[in-house]
Parts: sequence; structure tokens; C-alpha cells
Amino acid sequence: MAEDCIFCKIVNGDIPSRKVYEDDKVLAFDDINPMAPVHVIIIPKQHIPTLLDIDPDHADIMGDILSAVREVSAIKGIDQKGFRTVINCNEEGGQVIFHLHMHLLGGTRLRDDLG
Ligand code: AMP
Ligand code: ZN
Repeated sequence: MAEDCIFCKIVNGDIPSRKVYEDDKVLAFDDINPMAPVHVIIIPKQHIPTLLDIDPDHADIMGDILSAVREVSAIKGIDQKGFRTVINCNEEGGQVIFHLHMHLLGGTRLRDDLG
């Protein structure tokens, strides 16, 4: 738990979210400002700031997140149609919240522009 981290507060229940999936390591919830008909944020419950902070102490976390992708895409009914996953890293990558998270986007034909 990091003080003043919005996603840690969601994990703790201090900030409400629309939960899509949860297990002991990972939480997934609807993005508050969706960029597609389906836009889910998947996070480790443990506070890890960025993709670059995954060290041997939490080496399994990407596997846990990818397992959640399988679950969430099925729950949302877009597993067969298709979807996109994105992890923004640091400022020029567009990261705004510094608690590692994967975006899962779908429910429409996604455009290919990268901004
Ligand atoms: P990023 O730019 O990769 O750091 O993405 C942060 C994402 O978190 C954005 O898509 C926001 O819309 C989303 N977000 C911010 N606050 C909340 C919240 N309270 N509940 C759900 N999603 C949020
Ligand atoms: Zn956090």
C-alpha cells in the first residue's frame, strides 16, 4: 500500500470501483474514462510503480496479470472477437497513475493510431 495511490485505495476499498474480476494477486475494474466500449484496468494488488519496477521479488506478477486477461476478456464476451492490451510506462509512454496496470480494450474495431 502506497499513500496517495488511487489504485491502492481501490484495492483497499477506500475508493469505489466497478469490479470485473478479482483473485488473490490481481484486481480488474472498469476504467472511469473508457476509451472503448470495453475498457478494463488490470492491476496487481501489490503496489509496483511501473513496468520497470518488476524485480525478482514479484517476477510472477505478469503471469498473474495475463491470466486475468483471459478471465476478463471472457467475462466481457470479447475473447473471440478480439481486444488489445496496453501498458503505459513513464511520462512519454502516457503513464498517469504510477501503480502498474494493464489496459484491456475492446468491444469495437480498434483504430491503429498510437497517438
Ligand atoms: P495511464 O494513463 O496508463 O496511467 O492510465 C490510467 C487510467 O486509469 C486512465 O485510463 C484513467 O481513466 C483510469 N482511472 C483513473 N482513476 C480511475 C478510477 N478511480 N477508477 C477507474 N479508472 C480510473
Ligand atoms: Zn498503488
